[in-house]
Amino acid sequence: MQAAHARLRAHVPRRTPSRSSNAHRRRALRVRAASAKDKDDVIVIGAGWGGLAAAKCLCEAGCSVTLIDAIDDPTGATPMLTKTGKPFEPGTRGFWKDYPNIVSLTRELGIAEDEAFTEFTPSAFWSPDGLEATAPVFGDSLALPSPLGQVFATFDNFKRLPLADRASMVGLLYAMLDLNRDEATFEAYDRLTAHELFIRMGLSKRLVDDFIRPTLLVGLFKPPEELSAAVVMELLYYYALAHQDSFDVRWIKTKSIAEVLIAPLCAKLQREYGLKVMGGTFVNEVDVDEGERRATAVRWVNKSGEEGELAGADAVVFALGAKGMKSVVSNSPTLARVAPEFSAAASLGAIDVVAVRLWLDRFVAVEHPANVFSRFEELRGAGGTFFMLDQLQKDTEVELWGGNEPRGSVVASDFYNGTAIACMSDEDIVGLLTERLLPAAVPGFAGAKALDYEVRRYPGAVSWFSPGSYPKRPPLETSIANIVCAGDWVRMGEAEHGAKGLCQERAYVSGLEAGNSLLRRGVVRGGAGRGHPVIPIRPDEAQVVFGRALNKQFMDAVTPFGLASPWIR
Ligand SMILES: Cc1cc2nc3c(=O)[nH]c(=O)nc-3n(C[C@H](O)[C@H](O)[C@H](O)COP(=O)(O)OP(=O)(O)OC[C@H]3O[C@@H](n4cnc5c(N)ncnc54)[C@H](O)[C@@H]3O)c2cc1C
Repeated sequence: MQAAHARLRAHVPRRTPSRSSNAHRRRALRVRAASAKDKDDVIVIGAGWGGLAAAKCLCEAGCSVTLIDAIDDPTGATPMLTKTGKPFEPGTRGFWKDYPNIVSLTRELGIAEDEAFTEFTPSAFWSPDGLEATAPVFGDSLALPSPLGQVFATFDNFKRLPLADRASMVGLLYAMLDLNRDEATFEAYDRLTAHELFIRMGLSKRLVDDFIRPTLLVGLFKPPEELSAAVVMELLYYYALAHQDSFDVRWIKTKSIAEVLIAPLCAKLQREYGLKVMGGTFVNEVDVDEGERRATAVRWVNKSGEEGELAGADAVVFALGAKGMKSVVSNSPTLARVAPEFSAAASLGAIDVVAVRLWLDRFVAVEHPANVFSRFEELRGAGGTFFMLDQLQKDTEVELWGGNEPRGSVVASDFYNGTAIACMSDEDIVGLLTERLLPAAVPGFAGAKALDYEVRRYPGAVSWFSPGSYPKRPPLETSIANIVCAGDWVRMGEAEHGAKGLCQERAYVSGLEAGNSLLRRGVVRGGAGRGHPVIPIRPDEAQVVFGRALNKQFMDAVTPFGLASPWIR
């Protein structure tokens, strides 16, 4: 914490033609520090789940928080609409069974779970041959120890994949138990591609091609040959092994996540704690005092071309994802020089997403509302999903049509790893869905026309857990004492949580822990030393815990004698 708590100096909007030519003048314009203040100032860059959670934690602890995001209204108060006034949300995002902190937030906001979320729903996988498999609601099936319960529940659900191929999955069980033996083991798995691990563990090619590849493409948004084996294993552990019903998923029941969850959260923080929000504002530089190793100023430019800076904050939270990190760090030479973890994080890639909504001219009956496209050549390497919004949001169907009489099904479709799809025209993408992918999966779509559609591209929107990326991912606590990082890609260290992968719960928890870290270390004052509660994932099933412990004991005993896992190095 700074000795004299300088007031966060007001941002200085300026209309300026270029950053470099005005840097000197802008600095000269800084407001001088006030000598004392009652609240510490924190700037949170990025208002995704990570940034919002950090803002919540620090507001409630008594800090004065400014939340900055490039999107126009990160508070969710302004619904995102298409050009014809219909609702849109980038990506249909599920809430899995083990999202205890987001569920707790929902309750805290006074929203009943059954108002916010649908029931847990099954998901279906479709290929050019039709239905491939269905993921049931595991919590509804006979309770057996994991993974027996999952095997039992899905026994009849694979339509084509032979039992022998499914049985080859057993090879992965060992890797899931071995993965977290220690940090070095995790990093060794991280250096391996998931594809390589599958070969070494004897998974059948058909199992990988028909089921695991499409699952990873919609779970981690990349194919196995481009993913860290460690992150794939921890994801499978979290969703498929730790408990029989961890894979159960539900969806937002009406409107959008932004309107149902984010808007009430932001409204509460603004109303009760004076949260300041700067939407449509892009942070382009963070200044660091090299001697003190402290962030001293955050520079920004907004949509109108105004530039300004916020100086004198007590702490800064980087909650801006890989693409944002790259742009900020590449403009912040001192930060890049003195804190190599930031330039390492800035070197990581991010994944492109294309989100589509179709308003169809007829209602199409699809057995399950959540669906995955699998093995379609036309996906051009992307993962694809489609969601029947008229089924998920049936109670508020009129709203899906912008208040007009519903005329057919409303389909939300997302393409992940969608760089090749993003190159296509909007019309071609809509044609791909309506003429090829949807009717091939469900014949009822044949002949259906899109009365209206919206296609939006989100380049670099998602973290990419590439092989060898783990040590480069940003740490929650950095070597700059007053900068912490939040987001799904952040390594949480001591605060590591059970929620894994590209996951709203993980991002949310990381933000709470980033705030807690600032409070615990006294970088900012507040919270009476307690910080924000973080709910751990429920304990893993006993036989899974036992399997991990047994493996660790064995490997720790044999490693000194030169015996090591043959598939990792
Ligand atoms: C299509 C899609 C489907 C998904 N499906 C699911 C799902 O089913 N279930 C699930 O749990 N998760 C899902 N996810 C993942 C989940 O949404 C993310 O894990 C989570 O939202 C990440 O939150 P975050 O705070 O880490 O990052 P983000 O939400 O990416 O937030 C980062 C923010 O920083 C802002 N920003 C970046 N750079 C700057 C800058 N220089 N200046 C100002 N602002 C900046 C961005 O505008 C952005 O708002 C999905 C994601 C996508 C894209």
